[in-house]
Amino acid sequence: MRLHPDDRKLFLFVRTELVFLARYFGLDLTQVKPMPRRHAITRRGDCSAAGIIRITLREGGKRETVHSIAETMAHELAHLRCWKHRDDWLGLYGSILLRMSARKTIDRLRAVCELEP
Ligand SMILES: [Zn+2]
Repeated sequence: MRLHPDDRKLFLFVRTELVFLARYFGLDLTQVKPMPRRHAITRRGDCSAAGIIRITLREGGKRETVHSIAETMAHELAHLRCWKHRDDWLGLYGSILLRMSARKTIDRLRAVCELEP
């Protein structure tokens, strides 16, 4: 697990936002980690039964888009309660995206990315 030096502020923001959203929705998030580089090619994010979310911020030297990062955040958060992509997962995923929209998460992600282009 290595964090690209230009992604430090972005990672801190993503982690803080995930912790906030997990608390808001009562989800058992225990840890947030950058995705190991060997998995970043095929995975934008994943989560474990232990409540660990791993997220890809960059692949092949190129940063993921803010929309992709935000979608992955909501996707993996929803898996903390619903393991399979069924209706209950979809409902929670949608609620998280709505909450992120109200919190202007994407605008704030973009602002952080501009600090570390
Ligand atoms: Zn999934």
